[in-house]
Amino acid sequence: DAQKIGMIGLGTMGSALALNLAEKGAHVVVQNRTEARVPEFISEAGALASNLEGAGDLADLVARLPEPRFIILMTPAGAATDAMIDDLKPLLSAGDTLIDAGNSDFHDTRRRTEQLEEAGFKFLGMGVSGGEEGARHGPSIMVGGTADAYAPVKGIIEAIAAKFEDAPCAAHLGPDGAGHFVKTVHNGIEYADMQMIAEVYGLLCDAGWDAPKIGTLFGEWGKCNLGSYLVEVTEAVLLATDPETGKPMVDVIMDKAGQKGTGRWTVIEALKLGQSATTIEAAVAARSWSAEPAVRAAGEAALDPAGLAKVEVSAEDLKEAFLAARILAYAQGFRVLQAASETYAWDLDMARVAEIWRAGCIIRSVLLDEISSAHRAGLPEGQLYLAEGLRQKVIAGLPALRRVVSGAALSGRPVPALASALSFIDTMRLGRGTTNLIQAQRDYFGAHGFERVDSDAKGLHGPWAGHGM
Ligand code: NDP
Repeated sequence: DAQKIGMIGLGTMGSALALNLAEKGAHVVVQNRTEARVPEFISEAGALASNLEGAGDLADLVARLPEPRFIILMTPAGAATDAMIDDLKPLLSAGDTLIDAGNSDFHDTRRRTEQLEEAGFKFLGMGVSGGEEGARHGPSIMVGGTADAYAPVKGIIEAIAAKFEDAPCAAHLGPDGAGHFVKTVHNGIEYADMQMIAEVYGLLCDAGWDAPKIGTLFGEWGKCNLGSYLVEVTEAVLLATDPETGKPMVDVIMDKAGQKGTGRWTVIEALKLGQSATTIEAAVAARSWSAEPAVRAAGEAALDPAGLAKVEVSAEDLKEAFLAARILAYAQGFRVLQAASETYAWDLDMARVAEIWRAGCIIRSVLLDEISSAHRAGLPEGQLYLAEGLRQKVIAGLPALRRVVSGAALSGRPVPALASALSFIDTMRLGRGTTNLIQAQRDYFGAHGFERVDSDAKGLHGPWAGHGM
């Protein structure tokens, strides 16, 4: 018999995932807040309709599923998902499994796991990446929860997932919030990658390139070691024409970016874990600043651009710089994952994470194969950019990254993500930096103490006793 699964939420992602499940042989009972969407969805499903069954309200959905039940939620993260779980709980039986496939904050997933398990239910926090197309034909799937909860759905989850050389891009990564956290950091890396691409685009615009010409360049980059879904998307959108004006589509789109939270969460969690994913932070900042176009217009009028030089950076430099900076963004993202894995005792398999990102998800790129091998081999000092092949690529790209960032600075073009990648690697390249001065300052005003270069003693103080506040 086909496995019966419930699906709540027939929005963009829920509809696509329900069709994917039905196509892979599951019998999917679908439910939606706006009930009229249910018959409409089934009538549009064509031959797959025979594997779909419509439910009215939540009680009807639950009644249509045999025990133990498996129900996927594909609703907006946050309060809507909590309300949905509260409404479902009285209808469920002990041993039933809820699977939250939305972009939930992993802290919420940890809390929900504890509450639902206490009440006798099972819960999986499942990150799904790949947008609508991925959800329909094969997303990358990052699962958190108990192995016991995952076992009965493993087969169907692997069936609907993207495949990389026949291997499913789905994995049970750890307990409770592990899957949603990995999905969050995936999105953080996505933010950094998109921002770097936008910065490259800006520099090429300054050099007089039009959108189709830049799109063609990205098309060429897609065929080399920059090959990735986001580079393909960039090529496609830059080559598109606005049907109304005949202009390049991107030229008539407002430069005001939206965000739903996962980039910001990555940055906040990184800071809480004692890390700092500066390339991702720069990308979040760029979107936040972009959200106030009127302020920027006032700035354009008020702030004198005098003294700026026109510095053109070459396409070849941009390519090398982007590759190095992209590696550093991945490195920061993986470092955050490592820190979270240690803090929450998730025992994340980083190589596996990289493997399931190789197909289906938004950040899939040819680099991920090398990133997963590097993790399997063991990272020097836990740093991805020190792994041999990646280290060589960063070293090769650094001179170009310096020319790009300095050229951008001289011509007044902001490149926050590229610049933070450069500052990061320049910091990590210096055996001795300048925080000796910070420690001296802290000791002067707050008697915080320092360590000396020539002693193992801790909590030492400088000859400024009595001068502090
Ligand atoms: P949509 O806005 O397309 O759909 C939202 C769905 O949730 C609809 O079925 C809607 O029902 C229902 N819904 C909204 N609010 C409530 C509520 N308060 N109570 C009950 N049902 C509600 O969203 P998406 O499909 O894009 O996203 C769903 C989830 O997947 C989100 O968590 C999102 O972050 C995540 N996600 C989205 C991706 C994407 O590319 N879009 C990629 C990966 C994850 P109704 O028809 O009645 O409005």
